[in-house]
This record gives sequence, structure tokens and C-alpha cells, in this order.
Amino acid sequence: MKSVSLIYHTKLKCSLFKDISSILIKFLSLKKNKIQTMSEDLKECPSCQSPYGYETGDKEYTCPECSFIWILEEPVDFDHIIVLDVNGVALANGDSVVVIKDLPVKGAPKPVIKTGTKVKNIRLAFGDHNIDCKIDGFGSMALKSEFVKKA
Ligand SMILES: [Zn+2]
Repeated sequence: MKSVSLIYHTKLKCSLFKDISSILIKFLSLKKNKIQTMSEDLKECPSCQSPYGYETGDKEYTCPECSFIWILEEPVDFDHIIVLDVNGVALANGDSVVVIKDLPVKGAPKPVIKTGTKVKNIRLAFGDHNIDCKIDGFGSMALKSEFVKKA
């Protein structure tokens, strides 16, 4: 980049040129700050591992090297999932719960999980079925917290 002082200005009065150049310097330093701020938001490209992926939208990043576009997922914070049972009691990882309703199971050897089935060592999850667990005779299952109560 050429230095501002080298700008040809014979058609302008020197005082006016000073004004313009000071505005120009302010503009350039603002721009520089903006670039520095943005560089903190650079993310590694999941496709080519280039470190220069830059933000192009709401959580959307674009890689300047391979043009890959991706959505940045927030890291899952399992300490702050709130899962409430049918009574509004907060559940935690490792809790035991009791199923309060016969639940149909698609493709399972037994058609339903019966009311009163005890489920040990649950894992909280995000989404519609917010409890991951293993149930004897069924294996790994995902349940809705509204159909269980804390044991
Ligand atoms: Zn890339």
C-alpha cells in the first residue's frame, strides 16, 4: 500500500489536502481495526483445514481456499441441558426414572415399554426425545421426559 503522503495533490490546497489525508488515515485505521477484529473470528475449515474460514452470515462460515461453506455449531453444553420429568422435576445424568405410560416401540421384539418399567442411568440429550438410556429387553432407547418420573 502506498503511503498517504505520496498522494498527488497539486490541484488541492495544502490545508484541504491535510483534512482529506487525516480522514483517509482515520478510514484506513478503522478498516485495519475491523480486519483485526474479524481475524479473531476465523475458523478452521472442516473440509480442507485451512485456518482462514471467515464469517459470512449467522454462524455461517466460508473457506477462502476451497469455497466450502459450513454452519458453525455451538459446542454442546451438557451441563446446561434442562430435562424435566412429568412432575417438573429436573433430571440429571445417571438418574433412574420410571416409565409412566405404555410406550410403543417401533421395530422392537416386544411392542411396548410397560408402565412402571424402571430405567437406570439415563443420559440427557437435546431434542424431542431428550433422554438416552438402555432398557432391558430393548437395548438403547431414546425417551421423552414427559413420559417418565424420577425414581
Ligand atoms: Zn477449505
